[in-house]
Amino acid sequence: MSAGRHDEKAGRQERLRGLAAVDEVLREPDVQQLLARYRRDLVVDAVRAVIERLRREILAGGASPEAGSLAAADLVPWVERTLELAATPSLRRVINASGIVVHTNLGRSTLPDEAVRAVVLAASGYSDLEFDLARGERASRQDHVHDVLCTLTGAEDALVVNNNAAAVLLALAALARAGDVLVARGQLVEIGDGFRIPDILRESGARLVEVGTTNRTYVRDFERAWSKKARAVLRVHTSNYRIVGFTTEPSLAELAEFAAAHKGALIDDLGSGALADLELFGEEPSARESVAAGADVVTFSGDKLLGGPQAGIAVGKAKAIEAMRRHPLARAVRIDKLDLAALDAVLRLYVSPQLTVERIPTLSMLAEPLDAVRGRADVLRAALAAAAPAAAEVSVVDGVARAGAGALPVTEVASVAVALTPPDGDVDGLAARLRAARPAVVGRVHEGRLLLDARTVREAETADLIAVVAAGLRGEVAALESA
Ligand SMILES: *Cc1c(COP(=O)(O)O)cnc(C)c1O
Repeated sequence: MSAGRHDEKAGRQERLRGLAAVDEVLREPDVQQLLARYRRDLVVDAVRAVIERLRREILAGGASPEAGSLAAADLVPWVERTLELAATPSLRRVINASGIVVHTNLGRSTLPDEAVRAVVLAASGYSDLEFDLARGERASRQDHVHDVLCTLTGAEDALVVNNNAAAVLLALAALARAGDVLVARGQLVEIGDGFRIPDILRESGARLVEVGTTNRTYVRDFERAWSKKARAVLRVHTSNYRIVGFTTEPSLAELAEFAAAHKGALIDDLGSGALADLELFGEEPSARESVAAGADVVTFSGDKLLGGPQAGIAVGKAKAIEAMRRHPLARAVRIDKLDLAALDAVLRLYVSPQLTVERIPTLSMLAEPLDAVRGRADVLRAALAAAAPAAAEVSVVDGVARAGAGALPVTEVASVAVALTPPDGDVDGLAARLRAARPAVVGRVHEGRLLLDARTVREAETADLIAVVAAGLRGEVAALESA
């Protein structure tokens, strides 16, 4: 071992010996004060965590902490900081500059003000959630959204649950338990965060029967696969996955006719689905059309293109929906009252086509004219160019935004982004500083630049966005909100 390495090792040992022990730190008068504010086990854990982190840093040979700052009293501020963090909620505000409107990892749809008010009302006091005020009797939480869902989709009956995965699971369990479910092979897909049709089918207690080939399936394939054990046909909108070219699949009306002729059920999982009749939605199947085509159950998400809270909506024929309502799983996948309050308010915005696009952020972001997006991008560029160091590059580039969450996968929504290169050229470093800021800003790195897409940034967010990004370009991490 060289003399240098030997000294290094000796220095490490000495610093380790200088590191305070848990009991010593706990006896510090300032820690006694912390014990008055925080649970004892939390304080002990925090002291342990701080000591452990310092020990690892010393062993790793890092420059910090300085020898001589490892005594019990020196550790107290670290302990206090650790406890403050433990007492701070984890969820942080993010400004979405990714250009992905329904960004699953950033919480999918943001709610219209009307829905936010409804959530606050339901959260901060009692409500008639399951109470018929006119009669003074117990009622169902489903009553609040049942009629408006039937009106909007033309369905006989409706049921809302926790999310669309739960709606599909419940439909299969209620209509096909212990029986066969026929699915076209090309629709056995995994969607987004691990939602796999074969897995859901297995968990529902039904048995999967694959029909046809990956690219072509005909009604005669379903005929051949139907047996005495068969209970249902499941059609799955493949969302973010497309087979193009030489493909065939039966229409929904053909499948409905086939299922009815065999006294089976047709379940149509739309994924996002579309409730509004917007040109923008050309690619996305509409819930009303599926109902009209004769599906027994049509399921879709509350927080994809619908633009509401997390929820799963099942609409369709009375007999099928009633079977779902009565199934024991229905209680396990019940929608919670805050989501129900939000959904109730969002669905009311669908009674007028104009309100739908104006008030629901997911839809107004997608539908906003390109000129307006460009105007916001120009404002951002000018403000950032003025605030950034001279060596930073700030420009405006044309690009495409996306619906996200598997919705409208092929539709390219024209958009405009601000493109940034920091003075040191370290684009990943800049992106990391923006993510560490409060509020955090999430853009996307493309061809050596950080792009901030103006389509998903709201007017009310621009001032904070400018402050966070300007700091980032100066090499700083902005904290506009306390941690
Ligand atoms: C997104 C999606 C689901 C899952 O919906 P969640 O509301 O996220 O549970 C199910 N099926 C399809 C086709 C989807 O696109």
